[in-house]
Amino acid sequence: MIERSELFINGEWTRPVDGEVTDVVEAATEDVIGRVALAGPADVDRAVAAAEEAGRGEWGSLSDNDRADRIEAFADSVKSRAKQTAELVSRQNGMPIKLSTGANGHLPAILLNYYAGLIRDRQDDVRPGVGGTRTLVRAMPIGVVGTITPWNYPQALAAMKLAPALAAGCSIVLKPPPETALDAFTFAEAALEANLPAGVINIVPGGREAGARLAAHPGVAKIAFTGSTAAGRAIGAECGRLLKPVTLELGGKSAAILTEDVDLQQYLTALPRVSLPNSGQTCHSSTRILAPRSRYGEIVDAITDTVSGLRIGNPLERETQIGPMVSAAQRERVLDYIAIGKGEGARLTTGGSRPFDSDRGWFVEPTVFADVDNTMRIAREEIFGPVLCVIPYSDEDEAVAIANDSDYGLAGTIWTADEQHGVELSRRIHTGSIGVNHYGLDPAAPFGGVKASGYGRELGPEGLAPYISTQSVYLPAG
Ligand code: NAD
Repeated sequence: MIERSELFINGEWTRPVDGEVTDVVEAATEDVIGRVALAGPADVDRAVAAAEEAGRGEWGSLSDNDRADRIEAFADSVKSRAKQTAELVSRQNGMPIKLSTGANGHLPAILLNYYAGLIRDRQDDVRPGVGGTRTLVRAMPIGVVGTITPWNYPQALAAMKLAPALAAGCSIVLKPPPETALDAFTFAEAALEANLPAGVINIVPGGREAGARLAAHPGVAKIAFTGSTAAGRAIGAECGRLLKPVTLELGGKSAAILTEDVDLQQYLTALPRVSLPNSGQTCHSSTRILAPRSRYGEIVDAITDTVSGLRIGNPLERETQIGPMVSAAQRERVLDYIAIGKGEGARLTTGGSRPFDSDRGWFVEPTVFADVDNTMRIAREEIFGPVLCVIPYSDEDEAVAIANDSDYGLAGTIWTADEQHGVELSRRIHTGSIGVNHYGLDPAAPFGGVKASGYGRELGPEGLAPYISTQSVYLPAG
């Protein structure tokens, strides 16, 4: 049993004032594995007050290089916990351990070091003015940052906000979700070990109410959100009303375009990590597979073979490729979509139900639907589970039209024997990122969505800008 019955506010462990302490259940076994504190509105208020105070203190006055040193020390402490953090996430949300080791174990420290590197030896930005005068453009921290994150990649998605916010000199209130609240406190342990000043990082796991309180709080200068499009719209509306800067990383329904000349084996090898990463519980999964009619039968058969051969099991075993869904509710949602797909007339070629005889663990078989039309709900709505749709197309113009015919615009992939042609084709796809014969987020390159997939970018130098408030100091001709 892991006991986390206290929140982390102002560098101290503290019982929730108006929140609660609740059980955490393991996705693969349904065993209770821990107890965790969840914050109520008054706890969020305390955390914001601590973060504001930290911004006014030592943290707010450090030089860039001193701050980079402190962030790197924090990264070392986060890194030393990588193995246990990755396992803890997998037990909570069912993520296969190989993926969790990279995304939740190692990536957070990589991101912290990357952003520390971006501010190290930063020069004063003095610009010659058009009329001979000069302007000093200062990069000031925007203020207290409120982060609201989902359960599917809890450590990576928190670090994508934490790292640039710290680099910019901001203090932070992290609001992780109840499903993966336990692992969030790793950041608290690491902050204490690395001697980050009290209040620079505050951790208040909680549900929608705590998130809404954070978004609306007048002491919070910026919100960084990752989650569903529905919640993103609500948060974006509130931030709009308050004129509060916000970045929104939301859902997706991305397409994998297999061109006529595709090296099918190359796509099939990549399929588990490109189309079904984290058992489909990944925003950028290429779950709509667009296949040329001339090779449709061959492609459907090959995908069906590959998917039916994926290894389902306990996420802590290194060979496991498909783990459980995060919760019973998520499993039911995915099974409902499978029923919808059958009802819409799509052809189920593999999967479609719960695996094993055992009724423990929130598993769903990896599932493929063929003969899918892009107007079907299973092709339009984000299922967030191991369900793939194979959609036929006649020529490349039609493939592009189908790929773009989506409310979402997060990601996508193109699989082709001609990389240059793939790169040209990618320009026609209206998404924030796309891969050619590959897909993988890069800490140094911006990531984010268009349309209902979000607003703004994380990662890369572009991911630092939202945490900076510039101040122009106008100077006479020098
Ligand atoms: P969710 O929107 O239900 O919850 C996300 C977070 O927002 C949680 O911390 C939750 O407590 C909080 N929240 C929910 N409603 C809120 C409200 N009205 N006000 C304030 N806070 C609120 O999403 P989820 O089910 O936890 O995560 C899955 C979703 O996240 C999927 O849609 C997925 O595509 C998306 N996602 C997007 C990205 C990306 O980078 N684009 C990455 C991962 C996940």
